[in-house]
Parts: sequence; structure tokens; C-alpha cells
Amino acid sequence: MKRRLFFAVTFMLALAMLLESTCVAAERGVPDLRERPYYSIQAKYNDAASKVTGHFSVKVPVRGEALTELYFHLYPNAFDDWKWGAESRPEEPGYLKVRDVKVDGVKARHKNKGTLLNVQLPTPVRPGETTQVEMDYVLKIPKGGMRLNRFKNTAFLAQWYPMLAVKDREGWHIDPYTSTGDPFYSRMSDFEVTFDIPEGYQLITTAQDFPDPVSSSVTLRQANVRDFAAVITKDYEPVRGKAGKTKVNLWYQKGMEDVAQELHDAAIAGMEFFGKYFGPYPYKEVDVVLGETGYGIAGMEYPGLVTSLDKITTRKGERPAVNVVAHELAHQWWYGVVGNNQVKEPWLDEGLTTFSEFLFMEEKMGEDERDLLVKAAERTDEINREKGITSVESLYQYSDPIYGLMVYTRPAAMMWKLVDKLGKDKVLEIMSTYYDRYRFQTATTRDFIRVASEVAGQDLEPFFDRWLYFKKDRAPEKKK
Ligand SMILES: [Zn+2]
Repeated sequence: MKRRLFFAVTFMLALAMLLESTCVAAERGVPDLRERPYYSIQAKYNDAASKVTGHFSVKVPVRGEALTELYFHLYPNAFDDWKWGAESRPEEPGYLKVRDVKVDGVKARHKNKGTLLNVQLPTPVRPGETTQVEMDYVLKIPKGGMRLNRFKNTAFLAQWYPMLAVKDREGWHIDPYTSTGDPFYSRMSDFEVTFDIPEGYQLITTAQDFPDPVSSSVTLRQANVRDFAAVITKDYEPVRGKAGKTKVNLWYQKGMEDVAQELHDAAIAGMEFFGKYFGPYPYKEVDVVLGETGYGIAGMEYPGLVTSLDKITTRKGERPAVNVVAHELAHQWWYGVVGNNQVKEPWLDEGLTTFSEFLFMEEKMGEDERDLLVKAAERTDEINREKGITSVESLYQYSDPIYGLMVYTRPAAMMWKLVDKLGKDKVLEIMSTYYDRYRFQTATTRDFIRVASEVAGQDLEPFFDRWLYFKKDRAPEKKK
């Protein structure tokens, strides 16, 4: 995500949805259920009631050790009982209620508390086996919610269905919602979503979408993504194009005509730039949806779909939000394809994404703001001295202004320092190697440092320790 308040210079964004599609699932054959969860969601949209209702099911392949329970995040419930800043309180609440929960066809014990749903499995499910959980649901879309939002004739469906929590060696990741950063962590999954929406709405999603407004029920499929976002709208027009073989659609509302073409050009340039330097974008389509999607959000990333503001205020005045579009698209690489635990180590995607954004702005837009970035990062030394906080903390450790500096600015400045140290080509090689090695997986800070050291042919741990953890050097630097 990118928040408005982060940099003195830039600002908000939103992305909307890109999806890869039906074709992909067909080409790749039946998803391997031993590998990835398979979501099947029916979603009937009632525009008058601002609700989505339907049936939800997910087939969960069990790996590692036997499971006796599953957890799901019901993030929309954060908007039912808003516990964060009054300024970001939704105008009208939203929620996600579930009922008739079944496991392998049999009614199951379950407990919902706030944004967390626990489902008890009647018998343990062993590694190599698959269990299927299903339920009916009612989603109320909040008016003025962050990301999940409704305005005019547009519904932004973000983190809108029961999202399977991740269980790994550390146990279940059932961290609560917070308004700081992107409090979401999910694994690669396959999706089949059937939308039933009133006539005349355009559907923009994580999958490859239908070019025209939808007139009846449609099923979209997308394999190998971490999330499935959708925008249901009558307010948007597209500008269509391609970056290589990837369809790049930019969606704008009335009043944004003056920036639509420029931002679409930037989106294509961004997709080409990141693809060339980091590695190929693996999906067929990406959608950029312009417009604010909630308080303080300049832009947001989802697989195959990003949101961005149309314009931002900079030192030079109001301008098209090119950097926000670039930022959110870079998240397709850092978050989308190479995942990380965004709750535990948010710097890993935000820092690399901010660096990618600045690389793009410098090389393609001729705008070198790295000095500004490095200057802003200097503030973090002070903050660390005062509060002891570093760039590798969980979301809950940061207040909003500190979050931007520690998680976006300092790591991006760190990467520029690495460019000074190793040269740009070497740093790009580090990023492309990291992308190649961890694509469709979840990486950690240690993984990144390991790859960087390997590619650089030197131990970079002291460098990263200093920048990320504010550690003093282990040995004094050699005099020149
Ligand atoms: Zn971001």
C-alpha cells in the first residue's frame, strides 16, 4: 500500500484489480490440490443493499503436520466495530457474517470473534489429505471503509471473503487487523469466483476480465495468487493496452480524463520496466483502478489489480500520480509473486517496492529524488535512538508516521546505498535472483540477505544489520 501521509513529496494511491483468468486455469490444467488451497466463491451483489451474499468453500491441502482446526480472517468485521482512529472510521459499518459452517459436508463447530473465525475439524486431517470447508456468508460493504469500500456506483471488494490464515513452523498466523500498513498474510491459492451482479456493471478483478459490462452470472478463475480482489462498477471507463503480452487496463472515472492516458502510459512503462529488470510478470492481465479507496490510502496492491489516486500533490504542485501507479505495480513483484509476512516483516515488500518505484521514476521519468529519500531516512536514526524501534518490526510496533519512515523510506534508502556500494547492475541482479528463487513462495528478511550476499560475492549481513536493525558494525571499517 502507499499512504498519503508518508512522504513530504508524494502521496496516495489505490489500485484496483488485476486478474488473471479463466484461460490460465484451463491452460494449466486442474489445480493440484495437494499444493494450493482452492477457493470456490459464489457472490451475488445487491447494489441497493450494498451487500454480497452467497456460498463459500475452500479445499485445503494439509502439509507438514495433521490439522485439527482451521482459522479464517473475516477482515470486514473490522468495519463493524472500528477500533482505530476516528478519522478513518467508516461512515457506515460493514461486516462479514457466516453461517452453516460445514467440514467435508458435515456441520462443524466454529467460533467467530471479531475478525477471526475458528473452525474445528471433526477428525484430524493428515498431511497429504485435503479437507473442504464451506459456509454461507453475508458481506455488508462499509461506506467509507479502508480498501473495502462503497461509493457512488462502485463497490471495492478487498479482503472480502473468509481468508484462510497461514499455518507454518511458527504456528497459526492469526494476527488481528490493524489500520497501520497492510495487515494481511496469505499463501498462494487458486480461485473460482462466480459473480451474479445486476445488469450493466463492469467487473474488474484479479482474474482476466470480460471486456464488456456483465449481463448475467459469470465465473472467473485465477490460479496461483494470494488474494482475489474485485471492483464492481458503473463509474469507470477503461484505457486498454499491452506491455509485451500482458494486458494493461487503466480504469478512470469522470473528471480524470486529463490524466488517464498519461497514467496508462506509465503503467505500461512500469510493467515493462519491472519485468525487464526483476523477471517476467506471470499473469495475463493487470488492472489499474484510479480513485481513492478509503482514508489515507493513496493506492493499494492486490494480485492482478491495483488502485491509485489519479493526482497527487508534490513540491511542484498537483501532478498525475505516476509514482503511485509505479509503486503499486511494483508490488506485483514484491508481495504478489514473491510473498512475505506483511504483518511480521512489512519492510520486505514495502521497502523493495519503494526502491523499485524510485528506480523507475529515476530511469523512466528522469526524476532523481534519491537524495530526498536518503535525507528522510536520516530521521530514522534519531527515532531509533529515542524509541529503540528498527525497520524489522511487526506492524503493531509502529505508529503511522514512523511506519512510513522505517518501513518504506529507510529500506529504500538502504537499497540506494547498496547501489553506491555494488553498482546498479549488481543490485538488479540481486533483485532478479531473489525474484526467481522465491517466486510463488514466501520469503523472509534472512532469505533476502542470503541472496544478496551470494550474488554480491561478499557477506552483506553487516550492511543489512546496520541499515535494518541499526546494529553497530561488528568490526571497525578498514581505513582506506
Ligand atoms: Zn506499498
